Amino acid sequence: MTLEEAQQRVDDWINKVGVRYFSELTNLAQLVEEVGELARILSRTYGDQSFKPSDEEYNIADELADVLFVLICIANQTGVDLTEAFEQNLHKKTSRDHMRHKDNPKLHGDPNA
Ligand SMILES: [Mg+2]
Repeated sequence: MTLEEAQQRVDDWINKVGVRYFSELTNLAQLVEEVGELARILSRTYGDQSFKPSDEEYNIADELADVLFVLICIANQTGVDLTEAFEQNLHKKTSRDHMRHKDNPKLHGDPNA
């Protein structure tokens, strides 16, 4: 699925199932909530927190998809073409940071050494 197709699929879903888009500010809150759910899993999987039995329903792939869904909603309702935006963003990152990470000694070697 391309980003363009994903934006269309979300728009179709919103119109058929979701009735209408939540407001931009509600979707911002939804995005933060979904990022929080992702943070919860990552914190318990890779960080020092432990899982509770109620955490069993969560999985990283599903939470990433939740984040992507809300992000796409916000793009759709603000008129952003994510394909174009992502291409431009990668170009910006590449031209701006092309030596920055290679020259960062913190990124070389074992981070736990
Ligand atoms: Mg979620």
